[in-house]
Amino acid sequence: MSIIVQKFGGTSVATTEKILSAAKKAIKAQQEGHQVVMVVSAMGKNTDVLVSLAHELMDRPPAREMDMLLSTGEQVSVALTAMAIMSLGHKAVSLTGAQIGIRTDNVFGKARIISISTDRMQKLLDDGNIVIAAGFQGIDEEFNITTLGRGGSDTTAVSLAAVLGASCEIYTDVDGVYTADPRVVSTARKVTHTSYDEMLEMASLGAGVMHSRSIEFAKKFNVPVHVRSSQEDTTGTIISTVSEDPTRGVSGAAVTMDEARITLSGVPDKPGTSNAIFSAIARANITVDMIVQDAGVGGISNISFTVPSAELAPTLEAVQPIAEQLGIQNITSRDNVSKISVVGIGMAEQSGVSDRMFRALSDKSINIHMITTSQIKISVLVDRDQALEAINAVHQTFELDATSSDAVPAESPQATPAADPAAAANKLQGMEELAITDIALDSTQASISIHGVPDTPGIAATIFETVAQENIIVDMIIQSYLDDSEFASLSFTVQREDHQRTLDVLQDMQSEVSFQEVASNPAVAKLSVSGIGLRSHTGVAIRMFQSLAEAGMNIEMINTSEVRVNVVVDDSQGDSGLKALTQAFEDVMGRQVNI
Ligand code: ASP
Ligand code: MG
Repeated sequence: MSIIVQKFGGTSVATTEKILSAAKKAIKAQQEGHQVVMVVSAMGKNTDVLVSLAHELMDRPPAREMDMLLSTGEQVSVALTAMAIMSLGHKAVSLTGAQIGIRTDNVFGKARIISISTDRMQKLLDDGNIVIAAGFQGIDEEFNITTLGRGGSDTTAVSLAAVLGASCEIYTDVDGVYTADPRVVSTARKVTHTSYDEMLEMASLGAGVMHSRSIEFAKKFNVPVHVRSSQEDTTGTIISTVSEDPTRGVSGAAVTMDEARITLSGVPDKPGTSNAIFSAIARANITVDMIVQDAGVGGISNISFTVPSAELAPTLEAVQPIAEQLGIQNITSRDNVSKISVVGIGMAEQSGVSDRMFRALSDKSINIHMITTSQIKISVLVDRDQALEAINAVHQTFELDATSSDAVPAESPQATPAADPAAAANKLQGMEELAITDIALDSTQASISIHGVPDTPGIAATIFETVAQENIIVDMIIQSYLDDSEFASLSFTVQREDHQRTLDVLQDMQSEVSFQEVASNPAVAKLSVSGIGLRSHTGVAIRMFQSLAEAGMNIEMINTSEVRVNVVVDDSQGDSGLKALTQAFEDVMGRQVNI
């Protein structure tokens, strides 16, 4: 019999009346012939209330006690939900995380799931019960209660669906996933489908309808997720391997308002520097967002990266001593910047996406401080006071408000066919471990760096439009920025056969855009590590930098995204780089993943 996991967030179980309406949804699904597991969050803002109670007593409550406290929110909801179902004349049993057998590690406050046992749930389901599982919690080896981090009930729901071979419905106060946050872009539109990768990139961009980790999970175990309204009976958005319209270059846009940028200039362009810098930041438990390193000139390069504004001070503290050791000349920072990103799985197959984005911004006289592109995402950093104008301009330029004729019609997600017992047992092992799906070497590219580019609106648009007009396909684009200077540096990669042609095009542009110098490397190697959990396992980029440093390799360019980290090295080092990375990720490579 097919199983459905239905998750109800805090607002959807905020009152007993709402709990009753959630109960009715579950009963309806059961009457339609499914076995039903409900996952519920704490009622309304109860978790916040518990957090503030703790802080009335202590500034820094111990993490173990905090988890003990916070888990009670969900315990209230599961019991009430079971009662609601019973009051409607149906059978229900509520279970805490421990009772289900959700085993986690012992990192209180952000525990990872290690395994889930399905026996008890399956037996209760077979006896005709609706099973109500407490979201967000588990138990460690020593029977301590743990929680999965704020918003963690989504992760509970998706992981239960994964082990039960079920489909997953997330009932929430929005009716689906939008092309942009409707509070920020009034013309944003609900999409019928979005892919795991798009959703992952979007979730981390702050467009978070769902907890990022739950999407990583869904992708890893191929669980289709239907995000829909708990108020209305409408179809929402299906998150699976399918995008709404894969022929479209861009399917969504997002803004992260509170970013801070740090630039290290005059960085010695030699092996080990990125490793030293980013390891120091990681040791301070700070998650770096965009990382941009451009190809250096004269033995020095610049590294820029962003962190959440609130983390600027501790980041600078962590970086300063390392910078001194490395003889870095200058550290500058700004905390009034925002990140605008566009995402689309169709982007990888299309040219002319980035220059359209740059042009839309330049038409509004918005200056771009930093650029980084990945396979399916382009991000730029702009002044915060222009961020809202910027996201609206970009949303409009890609006509995200209009449905296209190639859109995939919405239909109910297909439940994964019941997994065979051996595969299911396999899934229980190390559920949330990092999974590297691919380590790749691309030896087809050349790199171009333009130094001394005037730092004014429209330059990136003009350069990349001109390059696109010549049918030159640009892959990675990186722009870094130097404070105290009116200039930026722009680096990008093209196919090797286009190297000379690109240089010629740039030469011809000299009259239009005056830049100081063009440097290039006719043969570079791009090394990429792709996988699931790159974001929640912050060590990935560092492990990569470290293994390349140990192999004595100099990194020319870096850029990062949620699902992939790319570095560019000289072509002569491609093979040994690939070998070093394969070794470095041996332990997490080739897990049983479904993509
Ligand atoms: N109640 C928890 C929280 O608010 C978990 C959740 O809602 O997903 O963070
Ligand atoms: Mg919540």
